[in-house]
Amino acid sequence: MGQRHYMGHDLGHDLLIRGGIVVTAAGGEQRLDVAVSAGRISALLEPGAPIAADETVDADGHYVLPGGIDTHSHVSWPLADGRVTDDGFDGAGAAAALGGTTTLVDFVPPLRPDQRLRDASEERIAQIEAAAPIDVALHPILNRADAGVLADIPEVIRAGLTSFKMYMTYGDRVNDGQIWRLMQQIVAHDGLPGFHAENHDLLTDSLETLVQQGRTAVTDFPESRPALAEAAAIRTVTHMAGKLASPVYVFHVSGDEALAAIRDGRRDGVAVHAETCTHYLTFDESVFARPDGWKFVITPPIRGAHDNALLWEAVERGAVTSVGSDHCAYDAASKSAHPGDHRLTPPGAAGIQARTPVLWDQCVNRRGLTPAHFVAVSSERAARALGLSPRKGTIAVGSDADVVVLDPRRRWRGSDLLPASPRTFDLYDSYEGAGLPTHVFVRGNAVVRDGAFCGSPTTGGFVRR
Ligand SMILES: [Zn+2]
Repeated sequence: MGQRHYMGHDLGHDLLIRGGIVVTAAGGEQRLDVAVSAGRISALLEPGAPIAADETVDADGHYVLPGGIDTHSHVSWPLADGRVTDDGFDGAGAAAALGGTTTLVDFVPPLRPDQRLRDASEERIAQIEAAAPIDVALHPILNRADAGVLADIPEVIRAGLTSFKMYMTYGDRVNDGQIWRLMQQIVAHDGLPGFHAENHDLLTDSLETLVQQGRTAVTDFPESRPALAEAAAIRTVTHMAGKLASPVYVFHVSGDEALAAIRDGRRDGVAVHAETCTHYLTFDESVFARPDGWKFVITPPIRGAHDNALLWEAVERGAVTSVGSDHCAYDAASKSAHPGDHRLTPPGAAGIQARTPVLWDQCVNRRGLTPAHFVAVSSERAARALGLSPRKGTIAVGSDADVVVLDPRRRWRGSDLLPASPRTFDLYDSYEGAGLPTHVFVRGNAVVRDGAFCGSPTTGGFVRR
């Protein structure tokens, strides 16, 4: 033992996490002490190294993991009636932190008709800075391709908002011509184009056919949004990305056909980043027959058991880049107001608190994958794809000290997890798993201690990429 084992400097440290099993996507598992100074990991040491720190956390028998990166959340989301969903960056951030998520990649919401992209981005950043206890990066949503938006794209990329989302369906959709125009501008300034990929015409036609047959129940919902629509849209945007020699980010990939479209794009040389979501990895379409089937109305739909199995196979072989929660905290009353008609059920569900614990439980306890697989899909690959690496997504000297100390034996029920707001609902209330954080740090700031939230608006903030 001694100086030669030091992989970083040995000045006084702010924090020392002792004796845990450090997991990285590349390096597997290693028992190390983790030292933190000035918000960064300052040294990785042989266990028991004689060094001083202001605070010491005993992580013996625990895993020490890079903080989770939720690549897809809709916190405080604008609704059609002018209100927003039932949470804010304070409550959603606390819920995320308790589960072990230290970075959200949320959105700049769709632009109002009179609103500039740069102004909307500043407004969202101010909301984050005022309230978020964890770090938050932003994907701006582009719902127009006019001169103002095109002019603002380079400006917001310079301000650190480097990945974008375009809806190919819904009222805020852009058409293929607009997508091509926006993509060229994003790529010209080294940004990353991303898509809610579902072909709007195919969705419209599928829904119309079902409506004519009187089939609008929640159990008819998946058929109203067929996998064909998802795969067709992915093929369109991966082709465009290929022509621009650009990577492309596909949000919420739901199953077999989408994975096949992505595989083909990759085979053609396009760097396609495939995000899936906790719910596609956890459930299959049998949930729509449950009495609370309305909760699961989320787009694209949760698909068959076969799709679920293929998503897990893709996680195992590294074909899934990231896992988002697609968190959207509707209040339970408005989500459940029309339980018999999926057309009147707002699509989306809260899930920011459950993403990391469910993913850990599914990966490590139920699917026999390794903690390193968990780290890969929970944070490491997302950090690389979204320009957060090497600051985030790994435990390495010089990286942000976004660290989770996880007790693998701690059992939990979904209903034990803190929701983002008291009036929302979630999909995981009856889920039972094992493995929860005891301590969580964001850039060295404690946000969870002994399983209790202790963050504040000063522990997190906007992450400029
Ligand atoms: Zn979403």
